[in-house]
Amino acid sequence: MATASRLRGLGAVLAVSGATWAAVALVQPPASASGRGSAGLDAARRRIADPAAAIPPREVQESALIGTSVINPLDVLVIGGGATGCGVALDAATRGLRVGLVEREDFSSGTSSRSTKMIHGGVRYLEKAVFNLDYGQLKLVFHALRERKQVIENAPHLCQVLPCMTPCFEWFEVVYYWMGLKLYDLVAGRRMLHLSRYYSANESVELFPTLSRKGHNGSLKGTVVYYDGQMNDSRLNVGLACSAALVGATVLNHAEVISLINDEFGERIIGARIRDQLSGKEFDAYAKVVVNAAGPFCDSVRKMANKDLSAMICPSSGVHIVLPDYYSPEGMGLIVPKTKDGRIAFMLPWLGRTIAGTTDSNTAITMLPEPHEDEIQFILDAICSYLNVQVRRSDVLSAWSGIRPLAMDPSAKNTESISRDHVVLEDYPGLITITGGKWTTYRRCC
Ligand SMILES: Cc1cc2nc3c(=O)[nH]c(=O)nc-3n(C[C@H](O)[C@H](O)[C@H](O)COP(=O)(O)OP(=O)(O)OC[C@H]3O[C@@H](n4cnc5c(N)ncnc54)[C@H](O)[C@@H]3O)c2cc1C
Repeated sequence: MATASRLRGLGAVLAVSGATWAAVALVQPPASASGRGSAGLDAARRRIADPAAAIPPREVQESALIGTSVINPLDVLVIGGGATGCGVALDAATRGLRVGLVEREDFSSGTSSRSTKMIHGGVRYLEKAVFNLDYGQLKLVFHALRERKQVIENAPHLCQVLPCMTPCFEWFEVVYYWMGLKLYDLVAGRRMLHLSRYYSANESVELFPTLSRKGHNGSLKGTVVYYDGQMNDSRLNVGLACSAALVGATVLNHAEVISLINDEFGERIIGARIRDQLSGKEFDAYAKVVVNAAGPFCDSVRKMANKDLSAMICPSSGVHIVLPDYYSPEGMGLIVPKTKDGRIAFMLPWLGRTIAGTTDSNTAITMLPEPHEDEIQFILDAICSYLNVQVRRSDVLSAWSGIRPLAMDPSAKNTESISRDHVVLEDYPGLITITGGKWTTYRRCC
């Protein structure tokens, strides 16, 4: 009951704090801004920057959706209030379109608040691009590096540059990582954050006091430190929702799409039936286009249009744990690109604590994915090998699991087409699905 009333109060909270949270999220327009009138964009910027601007309360947002009809539809109705959905709503609203967005739970309650919180180009994808001569992967890194700088500039109160240390226990690792990370700098070009560099073993331990001088393969030869971005993912997501609302989008949380509405010929999606999760009330909202940004759940939305559509999501889960601050220094991350079993392990400073994790294992799609004990233990084992202190199970303050909506082309014959890039498709008229990709590149999905 207390939770329900707290949630009901969210509209009011957003109304007060929306302008300040969102103020910088539109310093630069979204990636696909070409074609938008500069006058419209300037007006949107002014509105966001106006300290007196307030977001209409929940009742007004809901009435605006209920007020739509077949002859008075929204231009776009977005399903899902994660990074993708809120990014789409903001982009469309700043183009002057009439936009609605509904989110089943709360903004950023899905994958978008369960990430590693890195704004990155993807060093691993660069490695794949080089070794597999894969131009697609290279393009992915190139675009992500462009976005990395832009996202940090757009929301400097929620994002910062983070140095990350890669420990090397063999000399060939020093050369390998140094060259690889120099290439990472090179691909970033003028959007590079800082030059990567080598630190001797003594310097490295000074910078990261819990780093072990002994590894499986020998003593620490040094580290290569490179730079990526770090963000407060859930606050950035709420900032996007607020920005979209401030420039005129109707955004409603705790509102689930339970079915899609077809036109009279059954040929095109023209809206959605929505259930207000707080009141239980159901209503219809109409739109010229419905955008499915339901993340891991986008197949269930696609199947509302046509139950025979084949699945396009390959869910992959990642677990993170939170440890006390003394395991990692303030302002320096530790990233092990390849652990004993070939996975990545990392420790990153985060809001006065340390988060550690490793990503990617197969999973089923559930609304509240939970970290399993063996996954937590795996992370502890993985990071312990690189530290000079024992990390105890009792030190784990909390843990979370997130589901990555890896997308594959539904018409593909094998899973090799699973992309780390986002996928946009209209496999049913009037319903556009946008999924996959990374938080870092949410603006490109739009
Ligand atoms: C473990 C892990 C670590 C990651 N780390 C990083 C990282 O460091 N950097 C990076 O760039 N990317 C990272 N990612 C990827 C990134 O988090 C995702 O690509 C991104 O958050 C996906 O956002 P989304 O909006 O598509 O999905 P979501 O955030 O899941 O949003 C979808 C929303 O749709 C809602 N929804 C579903 N069905 C309905 C319905 N019927 N009606 C209304 N609403 C509905 C859900 O409630 C949900 O809130 C990571 C992913 C994982 C899993």
